Amino acid sequence: MQIFNTETRRLEEFVPITPGEVRMYVCGPTVYNLIHIGNARPMIVFDTVRRYFEYKGYKVNYVSNFTDVDDKIIKKANEEGVSCSEISERYIRECKKDMADLNVKPATTHPQATKEIPGMIEMIQELIDRGFAYVVDDGTVYFSVKKDPDYGKLSHKNLDDLQFNMRGIAVSGEDQKRDPLDFVLWKPKKEGEPYWDSPWCKGRPGWHIECSVMSRKYLGDTIDIHAGGEDLVFPHHENEIAQSECANGKPFVHYWMHNAFLNIDNHKMSKSLGNFKTVREIDAKYDPQVLRFLMLSAHYRSPLNFSADLMESAKASYERMVTCAQNLDFRIGNAEAKELSADEKELLQKADGSRAAFEKAMDDDFNTADALAAVFDLVRFINSNMPEGSSRAYLEGLKKELVTLTDVLGLIVERAPQADEDETAWIQEKIDERQAARKSRDFAKADSIRDELKDKGIILEDTKEGVKWHKA
Ligand code: AMP
Ligand code: ZN
Repeated sequence: MQIFNTETRRLEEFVPITPGEVRMYVCGPTVYNLIHIGNARPMIVFDTVRRYFEYKGYKVNYVSNFTDVDDKIIKKANEEGVSCSEISERYIRECKKDMADLNVKPATTHPQATKEIPGMIEMIQELIDRGFAYVVDDGTVYFSVKKDPDYGKLSHKNLDDLQFNMRGIAVSGEDQKRDPLDFVLWKPKKEGEPYWDSPWCKGRPGWHIECSVMSRKYLGDTIDIHAGGEDLVFPHHENEIAQSECANGKPFVHYWMHNAFLNIDNHKMSKSLGNFKTVREIDAKYDPQVLRFLMLSAHYRSPLNFSADLMESAKASYERMVTCAQNLDFRIGNAEAKELSADEKELLQKADGSRAAFEKAMDDDFNTADALAAVFDLVRFINSNMPEGSSRAYLEGLKKELVTLTDVLGLIVERAPQADEDETAWIQEKIDERQAARKSRDFAKADSIRDELKDKGIILEDTKEGVKWHKA
């Protein structure tokens, strides 16, 4: 399996630290608002990476944080006159709802910054003790970038250039820094802000330290994969490396993965630009699976320009998969339970060829665009190889091929049962009654049964494969 590593800028063979296991950390959202579909891109992409590792038989320990203390959360809390935790807990809840809608699996652990303060104080103290951090008069603790000879290795930035760019940039409240490149590990509280006691002052952590601490606590000093959107490469991930490697004295991450932006009109979708659409808004118009499909239709390292047209074409493509699964189900329901024929065995083997193409695409740095192409090859194959009289085992074999692949992508092709068993049986009885009425040319009765079902929100559809129903 080849993974593009941002640090080496090369495709590298994936070799886990512990055979059969993957330890991965994905930087999560700051929770002060409903997430937008740009935030959903890393969630969907790295959930798919996780699912593929699991498909390959790895046990994946997946950690993704919620940043629940931050200037924007404090601002929102003050605007609403409520506590910061009320804001962050509300948006964590909402974010988890969106994730469930998008079929993003819950992480093994979802740590929150405010619940990990003791670990952050401990790591900051280690950095001070090892000479990588210093405290100034007001109790702010800074990381001393020049003490870390490796600084810049992820973003390929050179310290002299960085220094040049920082000339004359004064950040208010940071005037006691020894060097403009240094970044905050701990800062004193301001009026109306949440704070914690620490050996240096009452205050709160800088942003970067939380990920170093949570990664170490839940996954260990050195992990396999660390991921996030490409805007996190610098400074966030660069600073995480500096903190972790200087505190632990060990390499931090083997593979760095970054997704490209979801753009709109060729600009990055972001809260600050105001050009965003929330996942909730999209879900009001489309099945959330369509959004998941759209995200996977491009390679994760290619920018994706969101548009209504793209959403419509994702919808049409996704529907083709669902229809294929529905047709199979319908055939399976009516098929005979008989032995697989020799022809059917051969056809199943051919169908299995899509799996090889799918794996080849996913092994190539998770090329979900090509993986989807392999799924559509299978859909076409199934659509043209479902002859009348097929055995149930054959049709079920085809269905298994389809569902195995779509599951890896987290795409649900089997619509959840829309009715319980009793209701389904009752609907089927009504359909049979209506069919019998039609056969005896009692069209008034047939129509009245259709209307009776319609009143209950059940819509009948006469197709060449027979009568199908769905809820309105
Ligand atoms: P934030 O809440 O801004 O820290 O973002 C949470 C995650 O979403 C990070 O991994 C960001 O890199 C990612 N992200 C934010 N905006 C976009 C976007 N327009 N496209 C892709 N990823 C994004
Ligand atoms: Zn992070």
